Amino acid sequence: MLIVMQHGAAPEEVARVVETIEEMGYQARPMPGAQRTAIGLVGNDGRVDATRLAALTGVKEIIHVTQPYKQVSREWKPESTVVEVAGGVRVGGAEITVIAGPCAVESEQQILETARLVRDHGATLLRGGAFKPRTSPYAFQGLGKKGLKLLALAREETGLPVVTEALDADGVDLVAEYADVIQIGARNMQNFPLLRRAGQSGKPVLLKRGIAATITELLLSAEYILAEDNQNVILCERGIRGFDPSTRNVFDLSAIPVVKELSHLPIVADPSHGTGRRSKVVPMARAAVAAGADGLIIEVHPQPDRALSDGEQSLFPAQFIEMMREIVAVAEAIGRKVAEPSPAPVR
Ligand code: PEP
Ligand code: MN
Repeated sequence: MLIVMQHGAAPEEVARVVETIEEMGYQARPMPGAQRTAIGLVGNDGRVDATRLAALTGVKEIIHVTQPYKQVSREWKPESTVVEVAGGVRVGGAEITVIAGPCAVESEQQILETARLVRDHGATLLRGGAFKPRTSPYAFQGLGKKGLKLLALAREETGLPVVTEALDADGVDLVAEYADVIQIGARNMQNFPLLRRAGQSGKPVLLKRGIAATITELLLSAEYILAEDNQNVILCERGIRGFDPSTRNVFDLSAIPVVKELSHLPIVADPSHGTGRRSKVVPMARAAVAAGADGLIIEVHPQPDRALSDGEQSLFPAQFIEMMREIVAVAEAIGRKVAEPSPAPVR
């Protein structure tokens, strides 16, 4: 529920609403805004009797949020959220942010070479897994802490902030020491203790849609992070399980406009995992930008044939360069722009 205050309501009136919410046994989330001050009521499971609140002075209206998720909904916050990452990089708003890099960090040479390449051609965030969720226990599991250190080195060399995955709640603190954005992978979208810990880390979180998750489930998982008082969540459409092996997943393009209508959070598209086939990544990247995605997350490798994970869907450098050229044109056609490197990179 949202309690919207009259324009120019006095701070004491706002404080009285907060106090009353707390007396009723719930938590209050004041949201001062340019247009209006609203106070969110959280901690309820079901409809709240608002008569006491509606009677307080300065209260303009009470909005009952109709969705099962609250703080992530557009009813709660009509303006789109722009997530501020380190070094002036932003996700959301008018610009389209490109996150690129290998599936996994494999070596110093591989991550530095990829980081330089993607930076030189317009990516503003570097991706790379140090802890990899693999279907087989015998597959390459990532370099772990060494991988995090290599990401930090690549950030120092290129100025690109880094996105990397935390696999479990206990791993969040270590990942947060190195990462600028903590990724929560598709297989972990409903790992609720992990969501809470990532929320508590204070770092922006990139939350990927589960392989068989509905959009409502994705938004409820994001709600776990916002419920920890962390608004910096970037949603990610990465394809859902289908029946046709022609592609690895079914890239759900329509999830982009659906999420944008339901939520104020930015959403990026991952056509690499979405299709699982290198030749399909660029067409779906163009489509995702056209559909309104706030960014792309793309796997690129200097030698995809030698990649230790997800080589079949990793772009060759030349393909990445061509993709960047094409999405600049698509963005322009819909009145948006691909974000340019920040003047104050993180080092
Ligand atoms: C990844 O980004 O490399 C990854 C493992 O993604 P997902 O969780 O979407 O499969
Ligand atoms: Mn991958």
